[in-house]
Amino acid sequence: MSQQVNNTLWALSRNSIFESNILKGEDRVDVAVIGGGFTGTSAALRFAEAGSNVALLEAEYSGFGGSGRNVGLTNAGLWINPEDVERSIGKRYGERLNDFLSAAPDMVYDLIDEHNIECDAVRNGTLHLAHSEAGLKAIEERAWQINARGGSVMLLDKAETYKLTTAENYLGAIHDMRAGTIQPLEYCHGLMKAAQNAGCKVYTNTPAMSIRHKRGRWHIKTPKGILIAERVLMATNAYLEHILPLIKRSYTPMHYCQLASDPLDDEKLKHFLPGKNGTWDTRTVMRSYRTDADGRIIIGTIGNIFMDNAPILTSWANKMIRETFPDVGPVNWTYKWSGRIACSKSYIPNIHDLGRGIYSISGFSGRGIAPGTAFGRAMADFILGRTNSRDMPLPFNTVKSVPFNKIREIYYETGSQLTRLFDHL
Ligand SMILES: Cc1cc2nc3c(=O)[nH]c(=O)nc-3n(C[C@H](O)[C@H](O)[C@H](O)COP(=O)(O)OP(=O)(O)OC[C@H]3O[C@@H](n4cnc5c(N)ncnc54)[C@H](O)[C@@H]3O)c2cc1C
Repeated sequence: MSQQVNNTLWALSRNSIFESNILKGEDRVDVAVIGGGFTGTSAALRFAEAGSNVALLEAEYSGFGGSGRNVGLTNAGLWINPEDVERSIGKRYGERLNDFLSAAPDMVYDLIDEHNIECDAVRNGTLHLAHSEAGLKAIEERAWQINARGGSVMLLDKAETYKLTTAENYLGAIHDMRAGTIQPLEYCHGLMKAAQNAGCKVYTNTPAMSIRHKRGRWHIKTPKGILIAERVLMATNAYLEHILPLIKRSYTPMHYCQLASDPLDDEKLKHFLPGKNGTWDTRTVMRSYRTDADGRIIIGTIGNIFMDNAPILTSWANKMIRETFPDVGPVNWTYKWSGRIACSKSYIPNIHDLGRGIYSISGFSGRGIAPGTAFGRAMADFILGRTNSRDMPLPFNTVKSVPFNKIREIYYETGSQLTRLFDHL
């Protein structure tokens, strides 16, 4: 099997250092959180602040999963339109979920302020770019649906879009001021540190290898120890390993890859997103563009990245820059990486009550910075007994398999690779 390329800009350029231990021997807690991404760290922080005896187990390091590999677009809402949310889970829950996720970026930026998380947070709005007439209709409809529900996104015409992006061939955009960008790994790291400062025991490099319910408590075995907890929150999304494999059936893995350049000089940067907004477009095989605090340009698209398809990706990226941002000139792609997304059948996350005090949330479907942060807190409040299941933004459901899951996975990956192969020619 081909070796995966994974030199993540966010991990290689981060400033903060995080100290934590491997779990050795036995520890007993009220609550165990499994998974150290946005969801798990946000939940752990909430538990710790409520005075719970809580421990977080992370198989690798904070942000190893999607949280440390993503684009960093702190968006409001989900990929699907508000009306589709209401159609899928009913009007009552749909309206509640739309409101909950519309406000979720506020929670992210408030946490950043409250805990002084240094993560290059910018809140100047994101741009959803229309790449075709059909894309333009799609964003017009989306903007209308958001604004009909009390949002205030703006529709930009072609000239206004060009002014903020200097990107050729885009016909318009939604400018959503609720949103912005962050350095996602630093944010995740900051949340984990905040949880630890609030009293959460953090065990990194500590995978949960097995889990059994004995005498009213969960016994979670790790390579060097055992964690005994009354209640457990699984926050492993697309990176679930070793335990409870049934959850994997409820989502389809899909990959997204990114390339980041060397830092560019100011002259070149004038020709790549002068408005400094994070952006993505309406293509089925979507593209994203942003810059980082050091002036690197970062582009992304759907699909995985291996040693043998990396040259095609580089050639695709060069062609894309020539065609879309022609005045930038040649760039050197220093970082290339990919990450796994958990796509649920409806593109809405699933919350599961697996019985006897164990709960799970997964299926963020590529929207996890604000939703993971907000749902981590909501799940913690529910487990703490502060809210009941009827108050949750989503109904709990039983684990259901995505139909034709393997075929769906192959379809996503093959479709994106073929599109790129065709586009790079
Ligand atoms: C390439 C990419 C780009 C994306 N871009 C965006 C974006 O711009 N904006 C946005 O909102 N969302 C984006 N997303 C989605 C977002 O990153 C995810 O939805 C989010 O990170 C999910 O967070 P999480 O905490 O639920 O899971 P994760 O961050 O995946 O964390 C799960 C953790 O669980 C750990 N784990 C698994 N099994 C075990 C075990 N047995 N024991 C202990 N630990 C375990 C893993 O090591 C992992 O660290 C993107 C995702 C990807 C992959």
